[in-house]
Amino acid sequence: CTGTVGFIGLGNMGGPMAMNLLKSGHKVVAFDVIEASTKPIVEAGGQIVSSPSEVAKHSTQIITMLPNSSHVQEVYLGSEGILQSVQAGSILIDSSTIDPAVSQNVAKQSELKSATYLDAPVSGGVGAAQAATLTFMVGGEKEDFETASHILNHVGKNVVHCGGVGTGQAAKICNNMLLAISMIGVSESMNLGIKLGLNPKILAGIINTSSGRCWSSDTYNPVPGVLPNVPSSNNYQGGFGTALMTKDLGLSQQAASATNSLTPMGASALQMYRMLCEKGFGEKDFSSVFKFLSENDK
Ligand code: NAD
Repeated sequence: CTGTVGFIGLGNMGGPMAMNLLKSGHKVVAFDVIEASTKPIVEAGGQIVSSPSEVAKHSTQIITMLPNSSHVQEVYLGSEGILQSVQAGSILIDSSTIDPAVSQNVAKQSELKSATYLDAPVSGGVGAAQAATLTFMVGGEKEDFETASHILNHVGKNVVHCGGVGTGQAAKICNNMLLAISMIGVSESMNLGIKLGLNPKILAGIINTSSGRCWSSDTYNPVPGVLPNVPSSNNYQGGFGTALMTKDLGLSQQAASATNSLTPMGASALQMYRMLCEKGFGEKDFSSVFKFLSENDK
C-alpha cells in the first residue's frame, strides 16, 4: 500500500513511525512545532508543511502522535487545526495517549466535517517504534478499523480492534495503571530483599520462577545490574519517562472518577509518581522508582 500519509508530532515515537512510512514507500507530509524534529524526515524525502491544516490539505489519511489531550485538541480543533481544512472522507488516526473523553469529542467534531477519527494509542516504546513492532489499540467502527489497519500495519506488528471510539485509550490507560502498580511492587520487594541481605540477581531469579513474577520483574527489572539492556542498567536513561507515566496515571484516575471505579492502588501509584517528578525523576525511566525508594529509606 502506498499513497500520501499526513503525520503530525515527530517526537521520540512519531519520528521513527513517520520514517517507517517513508521506508514502506509512502509519501509523507508532516508538521511539528519543533523544527529540529522535522530534519530527519526531510533528509529521508518527506515534505514538511507549516500547520496541521496544511497537512490536511495534502492528505486524506493522517496520523497524530502528540504528548497529551491539550495538544490533540489544538492540532485537531485549533484555528490552524486539521478540521479547518479536512477533506471529506479522510481518515484521522490519533496514536497519542490521551483522555478517552477527548477522543470521543474529537471524533464527533470530525464526523461533522465528514471525516472519520479513530483513537489508536500504542504499547511498545521507542525501540518498537523504530522496529515497526508497535501494538495499536484501536477504537472506532469495525469498517474504519479495517481501513486504518492498512496504514498502521506499516508502523506496527499488532493492530487490535478494542471497540468504539475511546476504547483504545481505555485499554491503554488500564494497562499502564497496572504496569505502574507492578513496577512499584517489584521495586518495593527488591529493595526490601536487598536490605535483608539477598543478592538482587538471586532474588529476581526466585521471583521470576515464583508467583510474584511479572513483566516488571522478568523483562524490565528496576534494579541496576539484574538485567542487561534495560534502563535500570543504564542509569534509568531511555525507556518510558516517569513524567509520561504520571500523565497516564492521571488519565486513569480521571477515568476512575468519571465511572465511580474503585482504584486505590492506582491512586497510590499516581501519588508515588507525582512525588518522583517533584524530586527530579521526571525525565528518567519510570523504573527509577526503585532508585527513589532505595535512596530514601535509610
Ligand atoms: P514527544 O514529546 O517525544 O513527542 C511529541 C511531539 O509532538 C514533539 O516533537 C512535539 O514538538 C510535538 N508537538 C507538540 N505539540 C504540537 C503541536 N501543537 N503541533 C505539532 N506538533 C506538536 O513524545 P513521545 O514520546 O513521542 O510520545 C507521544 C505520545 O505517545 C504520548 O502521548 C505518550 O504518552 C505516548 N507513548 C509514548 C511511549 C514512549 O515510550 N515514549 C510509549 C507509548 C506511548
